[in-house]
Amino acid sequence: MPNRSECEAVVRQLWPYLDGAVSESQRERIVAHLEGCVNCASHFDFAQSFLDAVAAARPHLPANEVLRVRVMSALMAEGFEAQ
Ligand SMILES: [Zn+2]
Repeated sequence: MPNRSECEAVVRQLWPYLDGAVSESQRERIVAHLEGCVNCASHFDFAQSFLDAVAAARPHLPANEVLRVRVMSALMAEGFEAQ
């Protein structure tokens, strides 16, 4: 059973990981954790499918708009409810 501090470390890498901005060793550590941790895997699945849906719906989204969507989705992943 993964411990909580490991989960926090992995979730902090969520966006850099999805951007391909983590090192190979970090990536392997994250992938290994996700295979054994349903809770973190659901965070990553949500974020990835959210980005895919945004990219599919609005392929020419300006960069600042992408950033705003990312911030919102990160907040929602933490349990924040958009009004
Ligand atoms: Zn975890």
